[in-house]
Amino acid sequence: MKKNVDPLKNIVSLCKRRGFIYPGSDIYGGFANTYSFGPYGVELKKNIKDLWWKTFVYQRRDIVGLDGPILMHPKIWEASGHVDSFNDALIDCKECKNRFRADQLIENQINKDVEGLKLEDITKIVKDEKIKCPKCQKENFTDARHFNLMFSTQMSKTDADDNISYLRPETAQAIFVDFKNIVDTMRVKIPFGIAQIGKAFRNEITPGNFIFRVIEFEQMEIEYFIEESSWQDTFDKWLTDMFNWCKLIGLDSKKLKEKEHLKEKLSHYSKRTVDITYEFPFGENELYGLAYRTDFDLKNHEKFSKTSLKYFDPINNKKYIPHVIEPTFGLDRTILALLCDVYDEEILENNEKRVVLRFNKKIAPVKVAIFPLMKKEELTKVARAIFEKLNPHWSVEYDETGAIGKRYRRQDELGTPYCITVDYDSLEDNTVTLRDRDSMKQERIKIDNLLDIIKNKLEN
Ligand code: ATP
Repeated sequence: MKKNVDPLKNIVSLCKRRGFIYPGSDIYGGFANTYSFGPYGVELKKNIKDLWWKTFVYQRRDIVGLDGPILMHPKIWEASGHVDSFNDALIDCKECKNRFRADQLIENQINKDVEGLKLEDITKIVKDEKIKCPKCQKENFTDARHFNLMFSTQMSKTDADDNISYLRPETAQAIFVDFKNIVDTMRVKIPFGIAQIGKAFRNEITPGNFIFRVIEFEQMEIEYFIEESSWQDTFDKWLTDMFNWCKLIGLDSKKLKEKEHLKEKLSHYSKRTVDITYEFPFGENELYGLAYRTDFDLKNHEKFSKTSLKYFDPINNKKYIPHVIEPTFGLDRTILALLCDVYDEEILENNEKRVVLRFNKKIAPVKVAIFPLMKKEELTKVARAIFEKLNPHWSVEYDETGAIGKRYRRQDELGTPYCITVDYDSLEDNTVTLRDRDSMKQERIKIDNLLDIIKNKLEN
């Protein structure tokens, strides 16, 4: 089996060709760094979200769900520190007018990490180290300045101080804002978590690498509320749970690493952050993050909202602001990592190239495809009946068009674990062939046993 040398290029093209991911606003020539998830992309996303929810909400007794709003009171973003601190250092090339993130230019050209440095120092490094514009190769930049990554929007009816509101840059704040409602209405006891899946928006200066860095993406986040003294144990436990999740969805553990953030480079809210990185084809990069957010957020929301966010512990008769451990999972990056992981090309015995997505069965967008060998009424009738029998259970496809080999190839590219073919023997003995995506082996199965056998295979 031969891995492709530049899998991202092929993945992007497969994603479009097979209805996983399309460039945003395609018929208008595109709209940079936005994407649509097509029919199979939606299924993939949904399967990942459902599995995540099942793993972290349904299968635990200490986590409840929430779906908060994208647009929230502007003061929330002052309290959270995003208005003041959610910035990148930006520079413009005075010659060709292109705009860049200063830290990325410096890192790429002289391999120096400038995160956390003051703007004056960054400007000085750009000048002293003769950083070049990657577009026009000139060395004529503006001074570095802050650029806030939040998208702002105008609200017509609001009694807030001004009319500006923001599209949330992270889902977390919606959880903090509803912490009191959840404590007041649910029977939660610390330690407990609130989980949310939803969109976040960031006005990234240099997005790219397909869906790795986009301006609109989905996060699956948990804010886990604890007593301060237990933060280290809880942090370690969550790190293990996050790696277990990666294993559950089938990510190659050899490509995953733990990256501890240096103390001086921690975000404004964090006392410890560990990234789980993945070896993407374009380099090792953050997939997920785990942060100890202390009591920073609740404390500030208490101050800004003038509402008590203290938790009362009836056992120890104590009132306090809980501390928070935050495991955060980017959904789009999960999809990209999975696509990179499962994409495979192989040359078959007949010299034909087979492209196959070896998705874990749990998250494969289509579980079973059913084909009549030929488009003949006696065969299609049986195949359609099988389709009706299986489709209440899984996402199942029926396909009667084209050569059978081409139909198999199409399903391989979608990562469908099983294909069923109805042929002339089926009419004699009520059996069909069941083909396995990975081994391409075919076995003959009684139609009556199909449901149980596939169920068994999909669950194991
Ligand atoms: P990065 O350093 O790559 O910008 P970050 O540290 O700012 O990421 P967090 O604020 O920790 O990211 O966001 C949580 C998760 O959301 C990330 O681990 C990632 O999976 C996802 N994420 C963040 N920004 C983007 C983006 N622009 N596009 C897609 N996913 C993103």
